[in-house]
Amino acid sequence: MMKVTTTINETRSIISEWKKQGLTVGFVPTMGYLHEGHQSLIKKAVQENDRVAVSIFVNPMQFSPNEDLDKYPRDFAADTKLCSESGVDLIFHPEPEEMYCDGFCSFVDMTGLTAELCGKSRPIHFRGVCTVVNKLFNIIQPDRAYFGQKDAQQLSVIRRMVKDLNIPTEIIDCPIIREADGLAKSSRNKYLNPEERKAALILSKTIFLGERLIKDGEKNVSVILDKMKKNIETEPLAKIDYVEAVDFDSVQKIDEIKGKVLFAIAVYIGKTRLIDNFIFEA
Ligand code: AMP
Repeated sequence: MMKVTTTINETRSIISEWKKQGLTVGFVPTMGYLHEGHQSLIKKAVQENDRVAVSIFVNPMQFSPNEDLDKYPRDFAADTKLCSESGVDLIFHPEPEEMYCDGFCSFVDMTGLTAELCGKSRPIHFRGVCTVVNKLFNIIQPDRAYFGQKDAQQLSVIRRMVKDLNIPTEIIDCPIIREADGLAKSSRNKYLNPEERKAALILSKTIFLGERLIKDGEKNVSVILDKMKKNIETEPLAKIDYVEAVDFDSVQKIDEIKGKVLFAIAVYIGKTRLIDNFIFEA
């Protein structure tokens, strides 16, 4: 029977019972409004662990005041159904007051990796992500935690944090799950009206274009980025936030394809900011 908890104490007592029995714990942190992208992480966690916990928490700390915290989509009943059908053992669904007690003033911050890409247009975002993931790791104490490559910078940041702070959790990368027409699945796709939904295809088309250019032998990073930008500019509803190539581990800009390279884009379709990426390993 799947359990749903809202308090840290309740969650800890279930986890400690599992640990006493010597069971391994897989963990999937989410902001809810779950789709097949989240589900792919959950399924992997279920395969690889004795017990699986999913957190559903729209973390206020990672949103700037001008962002979409208030209208972020929520559907806890549908999320519960998806989790229960996917073999989840525990959903942790706290209120912000449970996670951030009165007087809260401790943060996990990071330099370097958070300066580029989404860090530029969302300056407090990764501080919020690192702080909440750290708290969730301390509550759940997972053996393995599952993150999607959809948020590739987040993945690099979490890997770095776990290494730097000696957190005893293995981070597992999961590939991007897409709609049949290519659009990367995202809870924020709900914001798109039918016309914007069509226009949003420019993101995946641009990602596939970049991948194809490299496969066809193009080695010049600025040529690839330029062609990707020009491609996005063919869509009247699209406005570029960034189109960049960085080293996957350090998230620093590169001008030569070497090692593991992340090509990442963020594009506004109307008012909705969407991201997509591909990773190329030379
Ligand atoms: P979110 O609820 O947006 O915070 O996402 C929770 C986790 O699901 C993150 O690790 C995301 O990278 C992952 N995720 C979201 N969308 C996708 C997708 N389309 N494919 C794979 N993973 C995803």
